[in-house]
Amino acid sequence: MKLDRHATFRTLWRKLHAGSNPALGTNTMKKQELKIIPLGGCEEVGRNMTVFEYGNDIVILDMGIQFPEEDMLGINYVIPNTKYLRGKEKNIRGVIFSHGHLDHIGAAPILLEKLNNPTIIARPFTIQMIKHRQEDYSAGSSQKLKIIFIKKLEDKIKLGVFEISFFQVDHSVMDAVGIILKTPVATIIHPGDWMMEHGPINKQKIRYNHLSELKKPTILMLESIGSINTKKPVTEKEMIDNLKRVIDKAPGRTIIATFSSQVQRIKQIMEHASKKNKKVALDGFSMKMNIEIAKKLGYIKVRKDILIPINKISNYPDQKVIIMVTGAQGEEKAVLPRIVADNHRFIKIKKTDTIIFSSSVIPGHERTIQRLKDNLYRLSDNIIHSDIMDVHSSGHSNIEDIKNIIRQIRPTYFIPVYANHFLLKEAAKIAYQLGYKKDKVIVPDNGSVIKVDKEVKVLKDKVPTNYIFVDGSGVGDVGEIVLKDRQKLAEDGMFVIVAVVDRKTGQVRGSPDIISRGFIYLRESKELLGQTRRKTISIINNATGNGGGVNWTNVKEEVKSKIGQFLFSKTERRPIILPVIIEV
Ligand SMILES: [Zn+2]
Repeated sequence: MKLDRHATFRTLWRKLHAGSNPALGTNTMKKQELKIIPLGGCEEVGRNMTVFEYGNDIVILDMGIQFPEEDMLGINYVIPNTKYLRGKEKNIRGVIFSHGHLDHIGAAPILLEKLNNPTIIARPFTIQMIKHRQEDYSAGSSQKLKIIFIKKLEDKIKLGVFEISFFQVDHSVMDAVGIILKTPVATIIHPGDWMMEHGPINKQKIRYNHLSELKKPTILMLESIGSINTKKPVTEKEMIDNLKRVIDKAPGRTIIATFSSQVQRIKQIMEHASKKNKKVALDGFSMKMNIEIAKKLGYIKVRKDILIPINKISNYPDQKVIIMVTGAQGEEKAVLPRIVADNHRFIKIKKTDTIIFSSSVIPGHERTIQRLKDNLYRLSDNIIHSDIMDVHSSGHSNIEDIKNIIRQIRPTYFIPVYANHFLLKEAAKIAYQLGYKKDKVIVPDNGSVIKVDKEVKVLKDKVPTNYIFVDGSGVGDVGEIVLKDRQKLAEDGMFVIVAVVDRKTGQVRGSPDIISRGFIYLRESKELLGQTRRKTISIINNATGNGGGVNWTNVKEEVKSKIGQFLFSKTERRPIILPVIIEV
């Protein structure tokens, strides 16, 4: 059933009700409690996913990924653990997505399928990004999506007992939306990711005062990444004005590296280019895709001749050319690092090029970006980044604006979410400063069960939230033990000893083979290898006695431990040792 095209909003509503649990009527009669359970996003930035459960009705907000930390070797990303929802799939009335960043939609292809494809609810740009994510993961899978579009902010959706409505928020991606969940016991207000735009372009400054009039008690769940940020925010207008000034003064081409989801910024640059009679070329798969989506949705209208293909840039005078690319975080396969490594088919940096980093540094990328900048400074004399000029405005708030939003919404309860634990604690402190009592502020962990009836409290037991790693096409098959092995291999390498043993006599035949990776370079370690071979032979020969009834597992263990000690005494390294014994 293709819900997105053919069904109107009203029929969808009816279908949803028809599909909901028949036990619902009796359940709503009974006195129920609301459970709010963050499955991720309360101890890190990313892996955002929250479960709201009332009786037999479950509504989920966001299904994000977390990018791997340094010690998660070979892991592509981490997804939320949905063990708590096992057996409750039929109760899921819908999954709402606040916006299209990967830490909010990235796990959708895996988790939606796992949860029997529940209905998803989001604004059009977010839906398109989810569809692309689905298709990337498995071709054709976006056809299976059951979709309710949030067409207008005034839309109201009933999901079981939950009444869902929406409000406008500012964030660094198009179509971000705040969510209101009305339940019989409380009203939850969740802005998703947010910032306060103090100098908006072509729109009104957003106020949140109307949310203070919602039915009490209200619970504000607030993304709190900005809780230690004391910097005055750069307004959109200041930032765009700075970018325009740099573009106008550029002696040659302008190359702007930014996040691919910054469609609004790319749009403004294109509009400026149109005024100044310049051309814009985009490069980077995700950036081109996002602009295509925005064009299709009618969010971007540009004169046809403004956008030029990247392979045509040399047809125009340098001063006429603006190139917008991905890779401001130094991501190896993205465009800017490829240009800098002289690995791009159409762009070679010239001394007269102006290169702008219109982006912030994602934590963990500091060293890569530093190296990228160093290399760029060798190639061009005009590099501009946020430390020099305000050419980027962040998608997140600061301390002042957290105060502002709490003062405007005046919630009964305050729950900081969507950031590391220390940031949540700092956000709680901000609420205390505003006069909130301790029992009105809750700092949850991943898996905390926040029970809401007459009062709000955290239950003692948590639901499982341990990491689910995604590596290649494997979901959850790589666990802590595999990761530990990878760390050990990365630190000291591995050492394989293959010995052929005569079953009858128990004696080693010939000389054992040795394979080493990441431990020592075999060709330069002949002496050590000779000693290791001799030692292996004597260990095995002693352990097997005269053959017959030999416990080969024990023999292997002995080779492993004794050769391990021997190699450590010679090298002070502890490679993983893998003895292989072949009986003949
Ligand atoms: Zn975001």
